[in-house]
Amino acid sequence: MISFDDTRVAFVSKTTAELRKAWWLFIMVKNPGIVRVGSLLLNIANRIRLPLRWVLKSTVFKHFCGGETIEECKETLDKFSDSGIKAVLDYAAEGAQSEKEFDEARDRILATIELSRLNSGIGFAVFKFSGIARFALLEKYGTDENLNKKELDEYERVKKRADDICAAAKDAGIPVMIDAEESWIQDAVDEIVENLMEKYNKESHVVYHTLQMYRIDKLFYLKKIHEKARKKRYYPAFKLVRGAYMEKERERAQKLSYASPIHPDKDATDGAFNNATRFCLENIGNIALCIGTHNEISCHEAVEFMEENELAPAHKKIHFSQLMGMSDHISYNLAKAGYNVSKYLPYGPIRLVMPYLIRRAEENTSVAGQTGRELFLIKKELKRRKDERHKK
Ligand SMILES: Cc1cc2nc3c(=O)[nH]c(=O)nc-3n(C[C@H](O)[C@H](O)[C@H](O)COP(=O)(O)OP(=O)(O)OC[C@H]3O[C@@H](n4cnc5c(N)ncnc54)[C@H](O)[C@@H]3O)c2cc1C
Repeated sequence: MISFDDTRVAFVSKTTAELRKAWWLFIMVKNPGIVRVGSLLLNIANRIRLPLRWVLKSTVFKHFCGGETIEECKETLDKFSDSGIKAVLDYAAEGAQSEKEFDEARDRILATIELSRLNSGIGFAVFKFSGIARFALLEKYGTDENLNKKELDEYERVKKRADDICAAAKDAGIPVMIDAEESWIQDAVDEIVENLMEKYNKESHVVYHTLQMYRIDKLFYLKKIHEKARKKRYYPAFKLVRGAYMEKERERAQKLSYASPIHPDKDATDGAFNNATRFCLENIGNIALCIGTHNEISCHEAVEFMEENELAPAHKKIHFSQLMGMSDHISYNLAKAGYNVSKYLPYGPIRLVMPYLIRRAEENTSVAGQTGRELFLIKKELKRRKDERHKK
């Protein structure tokens, strides 16, 4: 059975100074009060354009992001490669509103795909629909209200952008993951992604659909798409995650008086995630799977299933994935044991990746157990390094 406890492996790419910084960062985000006030201040500072760049760039941004540009990500990308981890270069800027910005986002993703031809350290391309489409448009599409002529044209342009990205990915031989977002735009996203899978996954797994397993309906949906793909003769590919918008989902459901689409508790989400993982592994003959989680139990269960069923660690259709700055102990130990591992490497102008950073801080607060684990492991490694220095 694989162990995630080897901190020498887990933090091989981190200097002692970086580890100390990470320690302080996790101590801060562990405190919900600090995160709430910090998020509020960051939002205000961002709106009034307070020059906080230098503070952020050397702290929270440096921990969770590769840089402001692809070029700045090179150092982290190389470090990942040294440990056999692939990078998922993720343009994490949010809040775009204009057609020009959506086209620019598409071009950035196309540039990543081009770069992957030269740099084998890039494992997947990735994008989210809210980066290439107006959020309100996707939301309206998911309702009973009809889009007017102008909106229909706009919607066609969104589909074309997504299609251009998937066509380029297929051509370059790199798979592309499409992130999942808030449930009130996800119906529109699901529909487009299903069509893209049908179009581009005829011979191999190019397009990866993301399923948020905190959603009550998604285990059923997974099986439905699997069946649909069988009938229509294409290969389904899924990235499984638990879901990042739980509080927002619940708040909206309560405010608008509809039943929350999210499982009632963590155990139910965990059960759904692990069942979905098992279902994909059982059907790995035609499914490709990316297990996107920082949860040790979920990773252990997947590894156990692979061992019991003699699926090789480097099985080309099974990937594990984590986010930069989180759960290096899982990523680096899995990679060392020969499993396919990738890490999201978010980048973009600091001001525009702020919502992403705030989500990561909030996530680390709400998952107190996980933050405690990160702190424990960092402390263990710092002690190990200190003892090693003393021995010399
Ligand atoms: C590679 C990668 C890609 C990702 N892509 C996406 C994406 O496209 N879309 C997206 O939404 N998220 C995405 N995420 C984030 C992900 O959805 C989770 O927010 C994050 O990974 C934490 O879940 P976990 O499985 O790592 O860990 P855990 O700590 O085991 O789980 C925390 C998660 O459990 C769920 N949860 C917690 N408490 C409760 C509760 N009381 N009731 C019900 N559920 C609860 C929530 O989803 C919470 O985020 C991605 C994560 C990774 C690692």
